Amino acid sequence: MRLHFAAEIVLELVYQHLGSIRKIGAHIAEDKARIDFEWNENISKVFPFIQKEARALVEANQEIMSAFRDEETEKRCWTIRGFARVPCGGTHLRKTGEIGEIELKRKNIGKGKERIEVYVSERR
Ligand SMILES: [Zn+2]
Repeated sequence: MRLHFAAEIVLELVYQHLGSIRKIGAHIAEDKARIDFEWNENISKVFPFIQKEARALVEANQEIMSAFRDEETEKRCWTIRGFARVPCGGTHLRKTGEIGEIELKRKNIGKGKERIEVYVSERR
């Protein structure tokens, strides 16, 4: 659940920083999540921004409102005030502080394709 939500936060931040980027795949495993993008640059360039903003969100321990129906998409979604509204019917954390520490790793998975691996750990 933490990893699922961390991946959604990371994806949202990627969209906020690289508006035109296209997601081409995603997978969530036991110990890590990955998100694949079509992107011609080294995606780790935005990691400092994403890490900083994700950390701020975790520290703010904001309420995550779930099972909220988006009028446009007619889908269930979660929302964090002032940050995002994301369609997803999954089960989510109640507060951003539960995410813990988010770590990112970059992998180049082919020409014009970039992968972000997301890891979460308990806060130090
Ligand atoms: Zn979700």
